Amino acid sequence: VLAKANYQPVRLMSILRDVQAEYRHIPAEAIDILAVALKIPRTQIIAVVEFYSFFHLTPQGRYDILISDSITDRMLDKENLLSYLSSALKVKVGEVRADGLVSLNNTSCTGMCDQGPAGLVNGLALTRLDRPKIDEIAILIEGQTPLQEWPAHLFAVNDNIHKAGLLLNASFEKGTAIQAAFSNGTSSTLAELDYSGLRGRGGAGFKTAMKWRFCAEEKADAHYVVCNADEGEPGTFKDRVLLNSYADQVFEGMTLCAAIIGAKQGFLYLRGEYLHLYDKLQATLAQRRDENLLGTDILGLGLDFDIEICLGAGAYICGEESALIESLEGKPGIPRNRPPYPVSSGYLNKPTVVNNVETFMAAANIAIHGGDWFAKVGTEKSTGSKILSICGDCAKPGIYEYPFGTPIRQILDDCGAEDVMGVQIGGPSGTFISNQELDRKLAFEDLATGGSFIVFNHSRNVLAIAQNFTHFFAHESCGFCTPCRVGTSLLKNQLDKIVNGHGSAGDVAELEKICQLVKSNSHCGLGQTAANPILTTLQRYPDVYEKQLKDISYEPGFDLDGSLAIARRMAHRDDAAAHLSQVEE
Ligand code: SF4
Repeated sequence: VLAKANYQPVRLMSILRDVQAEYRHIPAEAIDILAVALKIPRTQIIAVVEFYSFFHLTPQGRYDILISDSITDRMLDKENLLSYLSSALKVKVGEVRADGLVSLNNTSCTGMCDQGPAGLVNGLALTRLDRPKIDEIAILIEGQTPLQEWPAHLFAVNDNIHKAGLLLNASFEKGTAIQAAFSNGTSSTLAELDYSGLRGRGGAGFKTAMKWRFCAEEKADAHYVVCNADEGEPGTFKDRVLLNSYADQVFEGMTLCAAIIGAKQGFLYLRGEYLHLYDKLQATLAQRRDENLLGTDILGLGLDFDIEICLGAGAYICGEESALIESLEGKPGIPRNRPPYPVSSGYLNKPTVVNNVETFMAAANIAIHGGDWFAKVGTEKSTGSKILSICGDCAKPGIYEYPFGTPIRQILDDCGAEDVMGVQIGGPSGTFISNQELDRKLAFEDLATGGSFIVFNHSRNVLAIAQNFTHFFAHESCGFCTPCRVGTSLLKNQLDKIVNGHGSAGDVAELEKICQLVKSNSHCGLGQTAANPILTTLQRYPDVYEKQLKDISYEPGFDLDGSLAIARRMAHRDDAAAHLSQVEE
């Protein structure tokens, strides 16, 4: 394992993955060996293992099953299926069965919201789970059938492309983007990219040409290109489809970037939940090397560049670019202080471009078809198209591509959404809009999204939605800064109190106060947006919150009289004065 990683501490993530594949956890002895061989402190290795939810210090089952706890999985009866799975496998949720054969737990969204309820077995995606499939899985596990022999239908992952537009329909031939860049000159290619108006598709919307130019202008002995394929925002799965069916365009976009900024090495940071894509992507890279589209002297143009795939390990925060870079360097994915920005000090403190999968794909196509081809679609401030992952209450969940500026109402019509109560745009960190706002537009200047688009009909409870998202943030907070670490837990507890019927008007006021505190004092985007599910639903549905409240201005968040019952039993008294009702009178 160490030799495969060239004894490099920056390869710690892949080393740990290999160790865990062998031992089902990271044994203490392995940590000792790694610390000596990699010349890093044991505590640093333990910190990495503890940070990522897919690494374990204690053994997991030989079949380790994780069930996605995304809101869309819950809408598809995930909770009942999990109980059914738990009794079928005779293992409690969060535990390893006594014989060590199987372990079962929840996990955050696995990026299969268009084909849930979903899960993972030893990291491989399971889709469209139902009771017959669970019965089948239970038999396979009890029979100790190797995963390679499980029926393929359990692992079937479909692209579900329902509407292709500018990018998904673009004609593309391997190598043409690189050739175009060299025949037109890299600086005029960068000028075309600038003219196209392309902005980062991960959500933040920074101008791509500007990012590449800043990075190219940095003087350094090495530059790096990083493709962020860690789409962890619940409801987002479009990068999964792009990597499955359009990987060449993504890799070509990365190569184009390398030519412009002067990089020799690139990384695709693939979220751990997409392990099923790993071998296929490696084969695509190998094919590109065979065709001299990667490696040395690419297409005889004097460009040397190659791409390595690094797998994440179940940490949503690694979608944040500086956290992703930390993870690439084999560390816990804790966001860095900025500035300096990655364009001047990124991977190994060298100038680094980090862009989303869709951004690289768009850049490759702009190099081929020109900036005007892209710029004439969309709006003035949001040029081009956006690829959406649509899921939730609609007849045809899947991938849809629209020109920016398209009204939300049209998107809902196309995906077969009826009786719409609201739409979560941009995932939990985005905006919840009500059915009174369906004429708003998909655009950076109105409703921006990295791709997540979740539809809710009137059968859904807006509080349950806000609660699921708030729990998600509390779980995914990296814990580095206090406002987010403590604040997201306070938000979770306070919202639970209201949802469980113990809230008062004072509690809502307190909830809003905590929201503002977390929003304005957190270190990175996770904390700064963690209150959005509460703020955007509270603003639109104050009546739903009010209905949950008791009339008094303060109500304890727990059953005080129920807790006093223990004391009454110990004191052997059950007279009226020992009850809360007596005190209230
Ligand atoms: Fe970590 Fe949250 Fe602070 Fe971001 S805001 S650094 S996720 S604790």
